[in-house]
Amino acid sequence: MNKELQIQKKEITTEAKIAENIKSILEFYQDLGFEMLPIKLEKKTRSAEEQKYGNATTTRKLKNLRTSEQKEAVLNVLRKDIGECKRCRLSKERTNIVFGEGNSDARLMFIGEAPGREEDSQGRPFVGDAGMLLTRLIEKMGFKRGDVYIANIIKCRPPMNRNPEKDEIESCRGFVEKQIEIIKPEVLISLGRISSQALIGNTGLKMTSIRGNFFDYKGILLMPTFHPAYLLRNPKDKWLTWNDAQKVLEKLKEIT
Ligand code: URA
Repeated sequence: MNKELQIQKKEITTEAKIAENIKSILEFYQDLGFEMLPIKLEKKTRSAEEQKYGNATTTRKLKNLRTSEQKEAVLNVLRKDIGECKRCRLSKERTNIVFGEGNSDARLMFIGEAPGREEDSQGRPFVGDAGMLLTRLIEKMGFKRGDVYIANIIKCRPPMNRNPEKDEIESCRGFVEKQIEIIKPEVLISLGRISSQALIGNTGLKMTSIRGNFFDYKGILLMPTFHPAYLLRNPKDKWLTWNDAQKVLEKLKEIT
């Protein structure tokens, strides 16, 4: 065979391999329930929800996700949908979006309020002083931090750590809801008033009356407890959060 033919044959083999790879990637996404790829959707075909939260929200069949790899892949698509978010005013002063981190197949998921200074600078949830206390609680419960998933209701730091406003919570809530839907934990622990009220869907609730009691969040058990930043200011209440954590551990034991 002359050299030119050899080169042509090699190119055809390479192209065939690339085509085969693309085919298997597309089949993988199809198995995950993807009906379209997360690339440039025609604006006029996007629903209002898709325009707000991106195409991961409505075009995936999240019920079919089983393995941590599949969940991880869809979480990555969701992160891409958030992009360099400018959906609310918090984008103006944030340094990094804090998406969340941990085991995509976690049995237990913690939901905080919003990133603080340290989280904003590192792009990771609960890495400041409150985060250290949360990590100690997770370890006292018998887990490693990487065994659970940690996210916030709000993905960007409110200036001066002020409470997030209602419209900021509403622009962001679709993302945490989607994270919960993808991860499908057995138990959710909401940390503090903002997170608990947002997940229970009632802004009139007081932490002192709801903490320690299980609620239903779309079929998932939800345990509201005190925010670790509150516990740093009120260490005498740590035992109450430990009681709440023990109730969660009992439930997790019952479920297995
Ligand atoms: N407080 C929160 O609610 N979330 C964080 O990520 C850090 C502090």
